[in-house]
Amino acid sequence: MDSASSSRLLELAWALLALNVVSVSVAGGALWLLLRQRRRGRALGEQLEQATTRIETLVQGGPQDGLHGRAAFERALDDATRRCDRSGGAFNVLYVDLDNLGTVNDAYGHEAGDGVLEQTVHRLVEPAGAAGWVATRIVADEFALIVPGDRQAGLEAAARVARRLERPFGVHGHEVRLTCSIGLAGYPRHGAKAQLLGQAALAMRSVKNTGGGGHAEYDPRMGIAQREQAEMLHDLRVAVERDELELYYQPKVQARSLQITAAEALLRWRHPQRGLIGPDLFIPLAERYGLISSIGDWVIQEACRQAAAWREQGLRMRVAVNISGHQLRHDGLVDRIGAALARWRLPAGRFTCEITESVAMEDTLVTQQAFERLRRAGVHVSIDDFGTGHSSLAALRRLPAAELKIDRAFVCDLEASGDARSIVRAIVQMAHTLDLRVVAEGVETEAQRDLLVASGCDELQGYLFARPMTAQALALWAADEPTDAPHTGAFSPLLFEETRAAGLDP
Ligand code: C2E
Ligand code: MG
Ligand code: MG
Repeated sequence: MDSASSSRLLELAWALLALNVVSVSVAGGALWLLLRQRRRGRALGEQLEQATTRIETLVQGGPQDGLHGRAAFERALDDATRRCDRSGGAFNVLYVDLDNLGTVNDAYGHEAGDGVLEQTVHRLVEPAGAAGWVATRIVADEFALIVPGDRQAGLEAAARVARRLERPFGVHGHEVRLTCSIGLAGYPRHGAKAQLLGQAALAMRSVKNTGGGGHAEYDPRMGIAQREQAEMLHDLRVAVERDELELYYQPKVQARSLQITAAEALLRWRHPQRGLIGPDLFIPLAERYGLISSIGDWVIQEACRQAAAWREQGLRMRVAVNISGHQLRHDGLVDRIGAALARWRLPAGRFTCEITESVAMEDTLVTQQAFERLRRAGVHVSIDDFGTGHSSLAALRRLPAAELKIDRAFVCDLEASGDARSIVRAIVQMAHTLDLRVVAEGVETEAQRDLLVASGCDELQGYLFARPMTAQALALWAADEPTDAPHTGAFSPLLFEETRAAGLDP
């Protein structure tokens, strides 16, 4: 490819990716949390300042910039409760939280994030004026509203707020789209006035926990869910000691020959009462409460042990392990990987660290140093869930990555969406220009496979070929022997010797 067409291609790819920069991204969540922590600190200072200038307004109970102060909001809550007690009416409390404001801060800077917040206030306040709603700010990007009327009125209000906040925000000449999570609690249907705000916040949190972008009404079981989480955390602390963690493996195959190139280790927790639990349920808990290092160490050791055992059996392929941002930022990660490789006598080039795009793109010194050390150790780096975060080409070029995994969301949309097909083609060409191998994850249908092969993807992974399975099942599957593992019968993998013959192993 000549340099003019490759630079046009890069521009196209960047434009397509930029489309995605501003869409709500699950991968941006961790970063967003960090940014919000910082923002909360600032918000506290701002609130103090605002409180001083608004004292007079608060005393009179009137709105300032359309938003009520907390004291005025509490008084409005008292009034609404009294009115309902007297005349038998009802009202709702809505708790509104913007999803992934961090992606805006990250892409366009904090001023842009502040601009979005300002516009959010206007969008909340306008209907508030018209329908007798009362709005207040709880912290930076969290708001509460009192909405008169029954449950139906509350649900309609939630949908209306969501519609207003999901309209594009103008930021420095760009259009930014966000979603929001809204929790709803009602008086008198959910009980005491003093609990309403907490109940609405709990409902909001339940929306957040399932990926955000929606609304939910408070349900007493949500309190139980919180208690359950505390119990899970307690059990998770001892899960490693009690040998309750297991690794399942999902193969990656070469797109054209279908030879097995690697197995990705995916963590499972065999809980004594709850049964087999997937990583989405407990990894975030482990990350939040400082357990991820010890769990991650176990995963590295176990994956190396298993890879060595497979090699003993003649089954030679790379092993890939998912590494969380917390592990990457932790000092000893590379040493621990090195020690595990030495212990199980595995060549470093046979070990892949899968790191999500949003973590890989963190421009912190610690992250960059960790990447550099991984590169020097000879370990492969794969950028996971690519397309959901916000990459800059410059950052992508700097990373010592060998592989890029296109997120399942694009693969899923391939058949129906021309945009998804263009994005995948652009990602593949861009990645190849940067000398990266491209893996498509979440391949479920033959039509998806054909489109991915035609787009030039190097490797494929997904239920079409094999679901994640135990190490033993994978060895049988690779040798084309019958297993109990649920995988597609139509696919018959090639023997691992052929993989070796393809020159994938030293
Ligand atoms: P990931 O690394 O992107 O892994 C792919 C996920 O998609 C896996 O879910 C896999 O079972 C699922 N998957 C694979 N093929 C298909 C398909 O064709 N269709 C559909 N619908 N899904 C498919 P799983 O095992 O639940 O893992 C979820 C995520 O948890 C992983 O996403 C990874 O980010 C994280 N994770 C898993 N194991 C570990 C671990 O040991 N450490 C850390 N830090 N994170 C882990
Ligand atoms: Mg992965
Ligand atoms: Mg992935």
